[in-house]
Order: sequence, then structure tokens, then C-alpha cells
Amino acid sequence: MNHKYLFIVGGVMSGVGKGTSSAALGLTLKSKGYDVTAIKIDPYVNLDAGTMNPVEHGEVFVTVDGDETDQDVGTYERYLEIEIRKINYMTTGRVYQSVIERERNLEYGGKCVEVVPDVPEEVIRRIKLASDEAKSDITIIEVGGTVGEYQNVLFLEAARMMQVEDPDGVRFAMVSYLPVPQSIGEMKTKPTQYAVRTLNAAGIRPDFIIGRSSLPMDKPRKEKIARFCSVPWDHIIGAVDVKSIYDIPRVFEEQNFAGLILESFGLENRSSELGRWNEFTDKITNATTEIKIGVIGKYFSTGDFVLSDAYISVLEAIKHAAAENIVKAKVDWLNSEEYEKDPVKISELSDYNGLLIPGGFGSRGIEGKIKVIEYARTNNIPYLGLCYGMQCAVIEFARNELGWKDAHTTEIDEKTSHPVIHIMQDQKKKMEEEDYGGTMRLGSYDCHLAEGTISRQAYGQSDISERHRHRYEFNNDYRKELEDAGLVIAGVNPTQDLVEIVEIKGHPFFVGVQFHPEFQSRPLSPHPLFVNFIKAAKEKK
Ligand code: GLN
Repeated sequence: MNHKYLFIVGGVMSGVGKGTSSAALGLTLKSKGYDVTAIKIDPYVNLDAGTMNPVEHGEVFVTVDGDETDQDVGTYERYLEIEIRKINYMTTGRVYQSVIERERNLEYGGKCVEVVPDVPEEVIRRIKLASDEAKSDITIIEVGGTVGEYQNVLFLEAARMMQVEDPDGVRFAMVSYLPVPQSIGEMKTKPTQYAVRTLNAAGIRPDFIIGRSSLPMDKPRKEKIARFCSVPWDHIIGAVDVKSIYDIPRVFEEQNFAGLILESFGLENRSSELGRWNEFTDKITNATTEIKIGVIGKYFSTGDFVLSDAYISVLEAIKHAAAENIVKAKVDWLNSEEYEKDPVKISELSDYNGLLIPGGFGSRGIEGKIKVIEYARTNNIPYLGLCYGMQCAVIEFARNELGWKDAHTTEIDEKTSHPVIHIMQDQKKKMEEEDYGGTMRLGSYDCHLAEGTISRQAYGQSDISERHRHRYEFNNDYRKELEDAGLVIAGVNPTQDLVEIVEIKGHPFFVGVQFHPEFQSRPLSPHPLFVNFIKAAKEKK
């Protein structure tokens, strides 16, 4: 197949929105009738994002085929409305691992295997394979990090080699940052000029520059960048901060960004169809009623700063569901540890219209989570528990409704007399052998929904498939007693008889799911559980 390749690289600094720019651009290209896929290159040596600390690296996103990836893959899925596969995510570790495995299998036929060109060639092989599998017209490849960093040199070399091989089929866009220092009060282009020179030193000339900034880019700035960076004036795209990240496609469309890319590839510039997307962003703009959602977790503090990146898919899923309900969701990040000792703190939760506990690991803050769940359950506050949030709901119910005071998950207390959550059979051995990376129950599994449950009504169907990432599960030995005491088993995996959803009868909305529904929520198809959770929160208000 004859794919076109668009590389997105970063200049000046990280964290300026390469992922969102790539996804938004992908959406506008797709809206012109082209099949688009996106690839993320993460320069870390880790084989996947599963072993990276979420406070440092952000959320671990899970694909349908069970890969643990960078959060940008989630961003692509949300904008492009496609399922991204494992082959679309690569790290330095993954590339080297393939090269070394092939060398061991004598696939290099006795030749000396070298960093260049053998490593970039493996990168190219993966890019082409992903494009073939997705049958894409255009493949967007986001190179993580910033040009000039030692880590991404081999990826840039791969990109350069691809352009040598197919000069008409490979283009480059640099996402750069244009600071407006307070003391000067003027937008500065020099950092961008340096970044472009650095890219030039790698043998690459950018075809487009996306200028991220807090204020709109004016004409003199564009002219300066054009002249000093050898990029046509109209190929310098302004990307000013917007209220909602979902407005970025519109910002790009206003500058005909996708049209110019198609033109530079020699592809026909068909008219764009962003109608449904605009309806979605209109809903965000038109919402006036505000509801308050508390998300209780532990991965947000980094020094003096609070980051919500560790829960980005949860946050986005809330936004999609809020738009669907035409409300604004104000999300507060609440530290679970604060609820462990302070009873006054717990009563402050009455301010919230809905409470959500996302996935998590380990003992820090778990008692606080259990307290929050008790409060939500007994005070009829809509509650959505995701993965650990479901497991903690089972523990809370066992302790407070059945009086099993030491009920726990064996993740925290191996000696509990009531291990209501325990390690999955096939995970036991992996833990004993210290086989940690990429070994959880990962990816999509089926779930059958029981009739008459909140979940069945929300999904509007009896059988669903959702993405997982965990080692522990509901212990079926306690199923009967918990059910008799009023816990509703609303969803079960049909092949392994694993409990995947628990609910509380008579509660306005109390749902705990063993899976991660947030990974499948998209602006144009918000997730039914989130939609109904937000609906219940709206009614509560
Ligand atoms: N720590 C729990 C487990 O491993 C939950 C994981 C999660 O919330 N993703 O089963």
C-alpha cells in the first residue's frame, strides 16, 4: 500500500501538546475522507509504559490487544475513533529487543548488526507494518520528547531515511512553543529558530510549524519564523491555548492545516465534515449547570504541583458524559489519605454530586478510599468505582454489611480471615517468579450483564467487552454470602466466571467495575456507565 507519513516532532520543550495536536490534526484529515492512523514513539528504554510511575509519566493506557502504552495513544483513539493496536506503540526498548531477538535467530545472516542503520530500519519496519495493518492513507507518527535530546536521535534518523526513500510520501511538522515572557511582553520566536536548526542538523527540514502559545501568533512573528526557518508563511500554524482541547480541530480547520498537508502530499483536498464533532463541542460550550464530581486517588501530587495526567482517560470520559448530559462537570482531585483519620473531612463529601474512585495499586490511601465508599453508599451519593475502586467497594461492603471487620484484598493483607479480593490463579505464579512487566490481566474481555441491573440498563445490551489491567479479582468463595447480604453481581465474564461488576440495589447509582471503561469513552460515543453516572449526579443536584 502507498501510505503517506507525517512525522510530528517537538521543539523547545515537552508538554506543549504534541499528542493532542497529532490527534486533532488526524481528525481533520480523517474528516476529509482519508483513513488515518497514529503511532507513538516513546524514547524510553522501558518495553512499555506499564512499569512507569504514573505521577512521572502519566496514565498507562491499555489497548484492546492488551498493550500498556503512553497516554497519547488514548488521545488518538478519542479523536480518531479507532482502536489503536500494540504495533502502533514503540519504545527504544521494544525496538532494540526486536533487533536483538532477530540477531539471535540469525535473521541478519551473519552480518555485523549495527546501531545505524539496523536500529532505524527496525523503526521503519514497525511504522510500515502498523500502516499496513491499519490500511491507512496517512500515518501520523509522533516522536516523543524534544529535538536535540539524545534519546530520539535514532527515531529522527529513521524518519530521515524514510524521506530519502520516498521524498513525496514523508512530511514533518514541528510543534514548538512561543513564550511571551512577562518582563518583555512580546512573543519570542528565537527558541523555535534554535529548535529548527537542531532538527536541520539531523538532516530534516520541517514542512510545517505548529506554534503553541498563550496569545495568538501575529503576522510579524509568522514572517520571522518563515524567513529564519525556511518554512512557507502559510505553513506556520497558530495553536493558541483554547478552553477545551476539543476545540483544536476547529482552530486547525480555520487555518486549512489539513488542506495544506494534503496539498503537500499531492492528495486531493476534499471538503471537510466535522458536523458531529462541532455538535459535541457546542454541547460543552452551551452547558451551564455545574455539577461537582470528586475523584479520590493518590497519584496527583508532584512537589508543589497537582497533575491530573495520571487519570487523563477518566477525566476525559467525565467530560464526554457531561457534554452528553449538557452539564459542566467540575472535577476535584481528592487525596484519599486525607480521609483516613479526619471524620470532619468525610462529611465535606456531601458537597459532591458524584464520587469516583479510579484504578490504583498498593496500600497507601486505601483505608481512605474505603471510608469514602461507605459514605457514598450510605448517603446515596452516586458512585462509580473503577478497578481498585470496585475492589474497595467489595471490601467496604463485606466489612460494614457483613461485619467482617478485617475483610481485605490479599494485595494488602495476605493473612486476612476474609480475602474477599484475592490474586487471580494465573497471576500467582508470575508474582512468585517476579515476572512483573506486561503480565497483568490486560486488554479486552467479555462480560455478560444480569437483567434488571443499573449496568444492563445503561449499556442497553446484554453482552459487552471492556479493557482490563489488574492482578486481583473478586473471590467467588464469598459470592453467595455477599449476594445474600444485598451486593448485586451485575456482570460476569462468561468463560471464566469472574465477577466484573458489582452494584448496590436501591441506590441511585452505585456501580463498581473490575475493568476500565474510561479507555473506551470517546467524544462522539461517550461511555454509557459514565453517561449514567453523570446523569445520576445531575439528578442528585
Ligand atoms: N491493584 C488492583 C489489582 O491489581 C487494581 C488494579 C487497578 O486498579 N488497575 O488488581
